[in-house]
Amino acid sequence: MTVDGFLARADLQRLIDALKATHRNVIGPIVRDGALVYDAIERASQLPTGWRDEQAPGRYRLTQTASPRCFAFAVGAQGLKPLTFAPRESLWRTERNQRGELKFTEVVPPVKPTAVIGVRACDLAALHLQDQHFAYGEYADAYFNQRRRALFIVAVDCAHPAATCFCASTGDGPAATSGFDVALTELDEGFIVTARSDAGRTLADALPLAPVTEEQRGRAAAEHQGAIDAQTRALPGRDLNAALFAQLEHPRWKDVGDRCLACGNCTAVCPTCFCHSESSVTAPDGASAEHVRQWDSCFAAGHSYIHGWVVRGSTDLRYRQWLTHKLGSWHDQYGRSGCTGCGRCITWCPVGIDITEEAAAIVGTPQDHARP
Ligand code: SF4
Ligand code: SF4
Repeated sequence: MTVDGFLARADLQRLIDALKATHRNVIGPIVRDGALVYDAIERASQLPTGWRDEQAPGRYRLTQTASPRCFAFAVGAQGLKPLTFAPRESLWRTERNQRGELKFTEVVPPVKPTAVIGVRACDLAALHLQDQHFAYGEYADAYFNQRRRALFIVAVDCAHPAATCFCASTGDGPAATSGFDVALTELDEGFIVTARSDAGRTLADALPLAPVTEEQRGRAAAEHQGAIDAQTRALPGRDLNAALFAQLEHPRWKDVGDRCLACGNCTAVCPTCFCHSESSVTAPDGASAEHVRQWDSCFAAGHSYIHGWVVRGSTDLRYRQWLTHKLGSWHDQYGRSGCTGCGRCITWCPVGIDITEEAAAIVGTPQDHARP
């Protein structure tokens, strides 16, 4: 059962204190080096009060405003991915004893329960996709799962999408509807608190919540509609699987390949990309080795290196691999597209390549797409 109530802005510290009382690390958005990043917080005053983000293809700027709001921005460079799927970690260790025998030891580091404040709907959807990839089945990933199960999520509805956001077109935002413990809808004077999980309801019980008025619900609904209406970008459809694979020889692949730097920024910031490489790092004395996993990218030559040959030898082929998987064959794997409309790959691409523009150029506009 969902419960809700209204938390006055002056009581936001009570929410952080209640999370800390459950012996969790508390992580929230803070301003560092001109960008919003997740980091440990102790006080509500560390949240980015008044900060707004201005995002465009290849551009990210923060500006300070007089707004009393702590979450009046869209998204920073990273979603939840680094908290559950480590950028680099040791999976197992191999040691050779004096008789020359090898011993393999799994390295699963201890994880402290962590609460994340400020998670957006696009990143909740991305976390669900990462769950589908890592969390279940015969080869469920213990490294991912122990961090995932330790997460307590405080979502925040988006009322201020960036110019690069298009979550409304993917169906993943701007409001958080599932996948959280507690969700906050921010108004100038405070927050509508919605508790969803058992742990979320326990947290809500510890807060001085007042009833939510109809007038507050009306303002929240109007802001939600405003956040949808403000999004000017859109993908040309939610399922582009057949349309993309029908255009594997389209000249636009070469065109985007000529512009793309193959830097891999888009895959690093994408909250759903899960590709990684593994290697063994041997100690100088040869007596032990660490088997390390780290994030990889479709845009790296080594990612398609098989038996002495780089299968995707040019940037246009690597971009095609990324887009046709992300928006196409992901449907075959997970029943939906791999894009949740967060817009990060557009903002953080140094040459401003825009996934919505490239997809439309290759498969056509939604109207073109609907034609027989
Ligand atoms: S493909 Fe781009 S817009 Fe879509 S989820 Fe990844 S980073 Fe966000
Ligand atoms: S699309 Fe942009 S961010 Fe991605 S690899 Fe190419 S230049 Fe880098």
